[in-house]
Amino acid sequence: MHTLPFLLSGFEIQQISSDETILKITAFATSPTAVCPSCQQISYRVHSYYTRSPQDLPISGCIAQLALQVRRFRCQNQQCQRQTFAERLSALPVSARQTARLGTILDAIAVVLSGQAGSRLTDQLAMPVSADTLLRRAKKAATPSRPTPRVLGVDDFAFRRGRTYGTLLLDLESHQPVDLLEDRRAETLAEWLRHHPGVEIISRDRSTEYLRGATEGAPQAQQIIDRWHVLKNLREAVERFLNRIHSQLKALADNPEKPVLRQKRTSTEKMLADGSRLRRHALYEQVVEHYKQGGSILGTAKQFKISRQTVRKFVQAPTFPERARATRTTSALDPYRTYLQQRWQQGCHTVSQLWQEAQTREFSGSRMMIYRWVQLQEEAASAATSQSSTQAKPSPNLPAPRHLAWLLIRDLERLDEEERQTLTFIRHDPSITLAYELVQQFVTMMKERSAQQLDTWLLTCLTSGISELENFAQGLQKETSALQAALTLPYSNGPVEGKINKLKYIKRSMYGRGGFSLLRQRVLKAT
Ligand SMILES: [Zn+2]
Repeated sequence: MHTLPFLLSGFEIQQISSDETILKITAFATSPTAVCPSCQQISYRVHSYYTRSPQDLPISGCIAQLALQVRRFRCQNQQCQRQTFAERLSALPVSARQTARLGTILDAIAVVLSGQAGSRLTDQLAMPVSADTLLRRAKKAATPSRPTPRVLGVDDFAFRRGRTYGTLLLDLESHQPVDLLEDRRAETLAEWLRHHPGVEIISRDRSTEYLRGATEGAPQAQQIIDRWHVLKNLREAVERFLNRIHSQLKALADNPEKPVLRQKRTSTEKMLADGSRLRRHALYEQVVEHYKQGGSILGTAKQFKISRQTVRKFVQAPTFPERARATRTTSALDPYRTYLQQRWQQGCHTVSQLWQEAQTREFSGSRMMIYRWVQLQEEAASAATSQSSTQAKPSPNLPAPRHLAWLLIRDLERLDEEERQTLTFIRHDPSITLAYELVQQFVTMMKERSAQQLDTWLLTCLTSGISELENFAQGLQKETSALQAALTLPYSNGPVEGKINKLKYIKRSMYGRGGFSLLRQRVLKAT
């Protein structure tokens, strides 16, 4: 037993005993002398013996529990204030409950994974420690200081589900995290930059806080708007535009030959619809008013118990946005259409007659449905006589504005057949054709990193008559230098986004414990 490959410098093993999971090792300190920590003199005189029981690295999958006989020495220096002292052991720090070598491993684990998850892992590794011990160790572990980068990436991340935000700073050349800031205010970033002179290029998103922070903290640095964020903003502008004209497109899709003519409704349907429209209109006015009084999107959404998307749609629409018409679902009438059509052509145009006939054929729908169908036939007949009858095109099922925005932004090569058809269809609207050309030109500039066309593009966009794109261009005009840089320099915040995903993982593994300083530790040490 004494030949186990077990080494603890300064000790000699006396006895090893074990049960199934724990190996207990008894040993005693062998050095004949000790140095007084106060006066540094060597002492030969042992004052007393006592036992310390630290945990050590596991052995063969068992917990290693030490029982170490150590000593107090008497200081032999008459001048020294200290009478006795405990011997100092390199393998076992003062008052530690783990040996130094176990401590090193626990620190490494704590930095990557502490809290309950870390504690479960150390259990499995036969070196059990509590979640609190791991947290304490992670906080104590020294944070390495990173060299100031030449090219700095700045991006925000959410603490606690988006209620508060912090800032991640990244070296865009080495792709290492440089630091973590507790918020995303201009002052905090400026302060950091002043303490870290030498940053030459700063890549950031389009928040005005980062713009101001970078300008104040490092006025000599070249700023770059991150391309990914610019394209995201462009897509959002396009989506707002499509949202505004969506009902118009929908009408075109439902009735491609007669975009202006709307189908009449029965008085009951109209009354119901009007009631719902009135309620929605009243809500719209209240929401817009609340928002104008300084309410936030989120606050307004909570106040009226509606989604944030709805609030945003309301406050961004120039006038009351009419609801897009619901797409037709299957109807109890469907199996009878052929029969009714046949009867119609034979000259039977009376509602009660048709309803009776349908009922004898087990039609379960209401009389109103037949009435409505008859009305549609009459309208179609009168429309056909007033203008030359044409074969109606099958109307494409119009996707939501968000999806349509992607169609305008993405490379045509990457659209499937159905998406191309939809794109061709909506481009019948001249304003969409214009928007499409502007968007594609911009995407190409971004992809090919060519800034030559930028001024012309901005000018065209500013006079396009599409207010959403005009606003987008106005915003870019305020940051022309940073935009030019984005189109000529190779840096982007891509790596920052990647690190933020990793940061989310670290945050989750902490189960909300430990606070900002620990999170910062982890992010800087985990890479
Ligand atoms: Zn002494």
